[in-house]
Amino acid sequence: MKLTYETICVKLKHTFRTSRESSDSRRNVICKVQHQELEGLGEAAPSTYYGQDAQTVVAALEGMACRLGENPFVLEDLTSEMARFFPGEAAARAAVDMALHDIVGKLLGLPLYRLLGLDPRKTPKTSVTVGLDTIEAMQERARELGQIPILKIKLGTGRDVEIVEAIRQVTQAVIRVDANAAWTAQEALEKISRLREHGIQFVEQPLAADDLEGLRWLKKKVDVPIILDESVRAAADIPGLIHCADGINIKLMKCGGLREALRMIHVARALDLKVMLGCMLESSLAVTAAAHLSPLVDYADLDGPWLIKDDPYSGVDVVDGKLALPERPGLGVVISEGREKGR
Ligand code: MG
Repeated sequence: MKLTYETICVKLKHTFRTSRESSDSRRNVICKVQHQELEGLGEAAPSTYYGQDAQTVVAALEGMACRLGENPFVLEDLTSEMARFFPGEAAARAAVDMALHDIVGKLLGLPLYRLLGLDPRKTPKTSVTVGLDTIEAMQERARELGQIPILKIKLGTGRDVEIVEAIRQVTQAVIRVDANAAWTAQEALEKISRLREHGIQFVEQPLAADDLEGLRWLKKKVDVPIILDESVRAAADIPGLIHCADGINIKLMKCGGLREALRMIHVARALDLKVMLGCMLESSLAVTAAAHLSPLVDYADLDGPWLIKDDPYSGVDVVDGKLALPERPGLGVVISEGREKGR
């Protein structure tokens, strides 16, 4: 198998702000794996928070290129070997992992969800994120997203309660909030008590990623579910979190691809945890790969294609808020015809 790659600039529709960062564009890396006459596609959307960028992805892909061999069906062996040699390069590994799944699906003539034994009617609805901004701008963004049934509101400011109050005035959508690790335990307790009056569905990552003691304390005090994102990257992280939260947010770019994401789902279920499937600032390529796993999860936050301009690919769609998986073999992703799909 032959691996090539291309770095792309992904421009965002609106400046994306969280409690930690702000950006107008990202550099992602598209990975192409050639096998016989077929091409498998993958995407790395690296995050500096996890110590990766387009340069580290490219270096890792160059190292992986000579290790692929000629048999794409041995996915467990190939992805385990990449995890052993490139442990810190989860985004690059995710790109290769999804390209290999794409090839296997194309060789067998089956969409990925069928290979995984999943029912496409069981996909969840996805949320779309409202990034941090002035209260008026966040309210306006929520209004623009009037057709979206679930909004995820970024918090982690001195005006978090006011933000959710203002957004609640203009939408009946389900509201999730994500503090991106910005609150102290006491602050989280106070804010969650006030936010629950506005009917929030859950709180994502209220405290610092490693504040497990604080999370255990908070979980006993609040009845709003707590979902952890920054605290959990891969399956091995999950057992230590069982009394700290009600669920976990899995992202291909944190865990290194579809196979590790599947392991995480099974570990979480064995521990009676809820499962959410999220994404970074990704095109429809990586988001479609994740969406094929979505019949297995409780919550989806696969909104990359809503946040970026000029999506280079098309694949998963959304019908009445619900993820609609493509029927084409493999990931089912094709080059976009430049349609905006009303986003
Ligand atoms: Mg998050």
